[in-house]
Amino acid sequence: MNQYKLKPESLMMSYGYKPELSEGAVKCPIFQTSTFVFNTAEEGKAFFEVAYGIRDQEPDEKLGLIYSRLNNPDLEILEDRLSLWDKAENCAVFESGMSAIATALLEFLKPGDLLLYSKPLYGGTDHFIKNFLTKYGINIVGFHADNTQEEIIKKIDDSGYADRLTYIYIESPANPTNALIDIRMCKDIADQYSTKDKPVMISVDNTYMGPLWCSPLENGADLVIYSATKYIGGHSDVIAGACLGTNEAIGRIKVLRTFMGNMTGPWTGWLLMRSLETLKPRMELQLKNARIVAEFLKNHPKVEKVRYLGFIDESSPQYEIYKRQYSSPGAMLSFDVFGGETDAFTVLNNLKMIKLAVSLGSTESLAEHPDTMTHADVSHEEKRAMGISGKLIRLSVGIENADDIIWDLKQALENI
Ligand SMILES: *Cc1c(COP(=O)(O)O)cnc(C)c1O
Repeated sequence: MNQYKLKPESLMMSYGYKPELSEGAVKCPIFQTSTFVFNTAEEGKAFFEVAYGIRDQEPDEKLGLIYSRLNNPDLEILEDRLSLWDKAENCAVFESGMSAIATALLEFLKPGDLLLYSKPLYGGTDHFIKNFLTKYGINIVGFHADNTQEEIIKKIDDSGYADRLTYIYIESPANPTNALIDIRMCKDIADQYSTKDKPVMISVDNTYMGPLWCSPLENGADLVIYSATKYIGGHSDVIAGACLGTNEAIGRIKVLRTFMGNMTGPWTGWLLMRSLETLKPRMELQLKNARIVAEFLKNHPKVEKVRYLGFIDESSPQYEIYKRQYSSPGAMLSFDVFGGETDAFTVLNNLKMIKLAVSLGSTESLAEHPDTMTHADVSHEEKRAMGISGKLIRLSVGIENADDIIWDLKQALENI
């Protein structure tokens, strides 16, 4: 047993939890408590010394429980389990994906720094960068999936802040077009602009393809970020987020989290641990269904174009990134119907089983209209440049019977 290593999916039911510490309960209870009793004053003193960084943790010293804004068993066990999928040293969980994103950006950027980011980004992230970070004197430069390394370097140099490049923020695949960003290329750029005192940090929002089908840390990223609301939570019933990376990077993020107070509460932690037990089978079934649905849509006379990672042209540069970064085409796709907004709305309004809602990665299939919903506040020009128009529908494929998903799409498309 010593050298045999259990796979993450087998460890999701037990890893990091000791039944003997909880009356033998097979499942980790919800530790709905704000504070924890110290056995002695000396113990309390020792816990605080480590938690506040007054001294380093001894090699065999356990970090004691203090107060639920700092730590709680439901939060710590969840972090240990999430770390297994990305083979990360450490993980910090948050009460939303946005709080994970905002905390990471705030920890590694300061006024005067330059942030390079991929476009398009999740709407909330885009807003935080453009409207909030700039207010605090952070300079920003965006680039598209089709920009070459040379074009991106020219953008950095033209900004006038090249010597202050500190952070590269990537989201791949892009929503809803499935355009791919090359993490290795970004790592190359980061290395080029890193100095001893100012390393350039790379984070990847891996919500669409992680943790199963993409490992950004293995491709050169420093941080992986999730909206755990999506595949990780997977049941459209909880908002949460996570950030993973080295002990050093996550250690810094956890200190800021302690003072922002945006950590996961025990109830959210417990819900996510329950979700993690079925993460792999859920995602694999979604993947299988998405393949079938994509094939169906591709051959449908009312459908003009399907954007699905399984259909990338093998001669395009995107295909190379796809092969290197991803182990599957995932379960998100979008498609253009022939016509315009009216025709797309006709399809959405006639769906009988698939839910008309934003969000993704859930057990139920969800359809939405990016142009007027998730991307409503992106400028018209930018949307057209990215191929988002009134005729585009985004679909998150769920775990229903694939025949039923196809039946629903077929009958809805017939109304055009
Ligand atoms: C939903 C989402 C977010 C934001 O996460 P919340 O949990 O809603 O705060 C960030 N990035 C991506 C790619 C998302 O889909």
